[in-house]
Amino acid sequence: MKNIEKLILQNKAWAQERRLNDPAFFERQQHSQKPHTLWIGCSDSRIPPDLITDTDPGSMFVHRNIANLVVHTDLNSLSVIQYAVEALEVDHVIVCGHYGCGGVNAAMKEQDLGLLNGWLANIREVYHQHRPELSQIKDEAERWQRLVDHTTRAQVHNLMKTAIIQRSWAKRKAPSLHAWVYQLQSGELKVLETVPAGSGIDAEYRLFPELGGA
Ligand SMILES: [Zn+2]
Repeated sequence: MKNIEKLILQNKAWAQERRLNDPAFFERQQHSQKPHTLWIGCSDSRIPPDLITDTDPGSMFVHRNIANLVVHTDLNSLSVIQYAVEALEVDHVIVCGHYGCGGVNAAMKEQDLGLLNGWLANIREVYHQHRPELSQIKDEAERWQRLVDHTTRAQVHNLMKTAIIQRSWAKRKAPSLHAWVYQLQSGELKVLETVPAGSGIDAEYRLFPELGGA
């Protein structure tokens, strides 16, 4: 059987099993969604967010792109973030990077990747900021992992700089922000950083005077 036909058949089986275990499941799903979390992850096929966190449909609003980046000029991700934070009022935003990220690896190499150059430049910037530390790491795989950590944390800091997050912190003291990394080698998530809602924001990035910070 072709892979594409298998998808339709497996979907039928999944829906039937859902109905069997919980006859009102799809009835409930039809009316609204109230996800508690926005997940910003990599498009990589090995990291399906609901599967690795064992969550039901309806639990997480999801945005995925190459290397899980939050870019200030990317209307796609900003629209998702605004809707999740302002309309759905999620309590948490997770940026989940992963070891073995091809996007991060591509940004470590001297190569021209066409359209991707502009996107990956965001990772090259992170590399540049941390070059003194990264250049000390001789093992390339280890340096790659460390750059995944730095890139993931940088996206959480990018979130903090948006008016969407700052406005929401000023208004309703949520959401909290989380930098996580998925370890392909074990299937387990690692917490890199947690930023509670209302945390201090450096003066040069602060858009709302009521938010404190250095
Ligand atoms: Zn990736």
